[in-house]
Amino acid sequence: MLQITRILTDIIHLLPDNIANQIAAGEVIQRPGSAVKELLENAVDAGADEIKLIINDAGKSLVQVIDNGKGMSETDARMAFERHATSKIRNIDDLYKIKTMGFRGEALASIAAVAKVELKTKREDDESGTYIEIENSKVQLQEPIAANKGTSIAMKNLFFNVPARRNFLKSNTAELRHIVDEFIRVAMAFPDLLFTLQSNGQEVFHLEKGTLKQRIVQILGNSYNAKLVSVQEQTDYLNIMGFVGKPETAKKTRGDQYIFVNNRFIKSAYLNHAIMNAFSDMIPKDSFPMYALFIDLDPAQIDVNVHPTKQEIKFEDDKIVYAFVQAAIKHALAHFSITPTLDFELDPSIERLDSISKPITEEQKSSTASSSLYQAFTQKNQAHFIERKSDLKHWKDFYEVSPNQQTYTDDVVGINNKGSDFLHKQPDVEFPLMQIHKSYIVTQRQSGFLLVHQQNAHERVLYERYLHAVAGKPIATQQSLFPTTLELSATDAVLLQELLPDMKELGYQLEPFGQHTFVLQGTPADIDSGDEKSAIEKIIEQYKHFSAELKFTRREKLIRSMALQKSIKINTVLSQKEMQQLISDLFACEISNATPNGKPTYMSFDKEELDKMFGR
Ligand code: ADP
Ligand code: MG
Repeated sequence: MLQITRILTDIIHLLPDNIANQIAAGEVIQRPGSAVKELLENAVDAGADEIKLIINDAGKSLVQVIDNGKGMSETDARMAFERHATSKIRNIDDLYKIKTMGFRGEALASIAAVAKVELKTKREDDESGTYIEIENSKVQLQEPIAANKGTSIAMKNLFFNVPARRNFLKSNTAELRHIVDEFIRVAMAFPDLLFTLQSNGQEVFHLEKGTLKQRIVQILGNSYNAKLVSVQEQTDYLNIMGFVGKPETAKKTRGDQYIFVNNRFIKSAYLNHAIMNAFSDMIPKDSFPMYALFIDLDPAQIDVNVHPTKQEIKFEDDKIVYAFVQAAIKHALAHFSITPTLDFELDPSIERLDSISKPITEEQKSSTASSSLYQAFTQKNQAHFIERKSDLKHWKDFYEVSPNQQTYTDDVVGINNKGSDFLHKQPDVEFPLMQIHKSYIVTQRQSGFLLVHQQNAHERVLYERYLHAVAGKPIATQQSLFPTTLELSATDAVLLQELLPDMKELGYQLEPFGQHTFVLQGTPADIDSGDEKSAIEKIIEQYKHFSAELKFTRREKLIRSMALQKSIKINTVLSQKEMQQLISDLFACEISNATPNGKPTYMSFDKEELDKMFGR
C-alpha cells in the first residue's frame, strides 16, 4: 500500500527563482565578453557619451562599466535586476520600432544570477544616488550614496556559484580576445562617444570622440589611414554608409570586417558574400578586405529577435539588401579606382604575403598551367607519380639502398647510406642541384629524382628549428644597433604582449613602449634579417589566421606562423650553396616529407617508372 502512494505522488515542482535565473542566464551570459556587450549596450541606451570599461583577469574577476548616462531612480535600480524588466518596450508592437540596443530585459537579471554585482547609479536631478549589492539574484545591501550622474555596474567573480560553467571558461588570452571583440563592435558603431578599456590597471584603448573614419583608424591602426574608400548610398528603402579598405590592404585574415544593421553588429555570411563579390576582381583569392559598413533601414523590415545574443538578423527582403550592398561597394570601388585605374600596384610588403605571391594575373595563371611540371601533375595517366609519395614515409627509408644496387657508383646520391647522414657528411654533392621555375629544386638520386618545393621545405626546416628553440634551446639574439619601433593597433598590441616570452626564445627582443608601441631591440642572430619590422607584423597577421584553430596552443600557432612567414618564398633564385643547405637541413628534420600543415615538401620520381613510360 505504502509503495503505491509513493508512486502516485506528484513529482513536478517549480524551480526557485535563483536557479531558474541561473539557467536562463546561460543563454545571455556565456562568458565575460557577453557581459561586456550587455553592459556597454546599456550604457549606450542610457544616453552616455563617456563609457569606461574596466576588466581584471580577462573579466573573470571583474567586468565594470562606468557611464555618464541618465542613471536610474532608487526603485528602477532595484527593478532593473528582475527578469523581463525593461524600460525599452511595453508591448509586442514596440519590437518592430526598436531603436535601442537592448529590449529583452534579461541582461542584468542574468548577470545577477551568475556573479556578484555592485551597482551605483544617480540621475542628474536626484539629491543622492543608490548603491545596491546583489548575490545569487538576492539584494544583500541597498543604501543611498553620493555619486555623479550616471551608472557604474561591476560584475565580480563570474560563475562563482556555478563552478561547472566557471571551468568552462577559456584561457585569459581567449577570453580577453572576446572582450576586445565585443568592445570594438560597440565602439565602432558609436564613434561620437568616448570609450576606454582598462585591463589589469593598464589602459588598452582610449578612443576619443570623432568621425567614423577616425574611429576605424583608432581601432584598426594607422595603416588604414588614407587607405579607406568611403561608401555612401541612400534610397527610400535603406541607407548604407561606411568604409571599405582599398584592395591593397586586404589581409589573410577575416578579422577586420564589420557589418552593422541599425547600429547593431551582426554576422551575416550572406552580406559578406555580397561584399566579397564586389571586390572579386580586385583582390587575390583567399584574402579579405577590411570593411565597416552601416546599413540603416526601417526596424519593421528586420527581425532582430531570432538569436538570443542578437548577432543574426532576418531581413524582410534579403535579396534587395544583397543587391544593394554589392552595388554600393562596386560603385565606391569604381569611383576610387578611376585613378590610378583598376590595375593598381601592390604595396611591396603585401606582395610578399603568401596569398598574393601566388599567380594572380591571367598571364601568370596560364604560364603556370602550361608548364610541363603542372601538366605532369595533372595528367591522369601519370597519377602513379603522385601516389608514390605515400611510400615515402621517411627519408631514411627512401635512401635505404638494397645491397644489389650498391654497384651503381655513378649515381650521385645514396651509395650505401641513410639520407640525412649522407648529406651531412657530404654536403658537396657532385651533381649540381638544379632550380627550376625559381621555386623547385631537382635533386638526382640513385633510383630517380626528387623534386623539392623550396618554400614548403624551408617551412619544415624553420618549424623544427623554432620548435627546438621554445623547447629550451633558445635562438641567440643579435642586438640591433638602431632599435626600431613598432606601432600596432590596440588589438594587435594586446596579442603581441601575450606572445613576448615566446618571441624572446625565438630570438626577438621586444620591449613594450607606451600604449601600443614596442621597441625591437634585437633579432634572431642566425636568421636572415631583412625587414624585421614588417616580418613581425606579418607574423601577427598569420597568427591571427591560425587563431581559429583551437587545437593548437599559443606557442604552436606562433611557431607555425613564423615558419610560414619567414620561409623562402617561391620565385626566389637560390645559389648552389643555399640549395644544398636547404636539402641537407630538410633531410635532417625529424619529419622531412611534409610542412607542419601537411603539404608535401618533395615528390619523388622513380626511374623505373620513367623508363616504362618511355617504352624502355
Ligand atoms: P534591457 O536593456 O533589455 O532593457 P537590461 O537587463 O539590460 O535589459 O536592463 C534593464 C533595465 O535597466 C533597462 O531597460 C534600463 O532601464 C536599466 N538600465 C540598465 N543599465 C542601465 C544604465 N547603464 N543606465 C541607466 N539605466 C540602465
Ligand atoms: Mg540591456
